[in-house]
Amino acid sequence: MPHTSTPRPSVGRIVHYLSHGTPARPDGSQAFPPQCRAAIVTEVDPDDPDRVGLQVFNPTGNFMRPLAAGGSSRDEGQEQGGTWHWPERV
Ligand SMILES: [Zn+2]
Repeated sequence: MPHTSTPRPSVGRIVHYLSHGTPARPDGSQAFPPQCRAAIVTEVDPDDPDRVGLQVFNPTGNFMRPLAAGGSSRDEGQEQGGTWHWPERV
């Protein structure tokens, strides 16, 4: 494994969940674009360690995304809503 690889998720780690945002307008813009939300890993798919269950913490409410409902896959490129990535270093 190259030393630049990021760690695998494990239960209890804090990650970012990328919200879906609102549907794109005809010009391609969105009233509410996808946003990073805090989330805690609640379970890890043993067959695909990059697919996890999450508890997502929105500013106005929380929701669960368990593996049983499809879970969340990893997308470090942050192009796809509904995915997770490691929090950006700022
Ligand atoms: Zn993020």
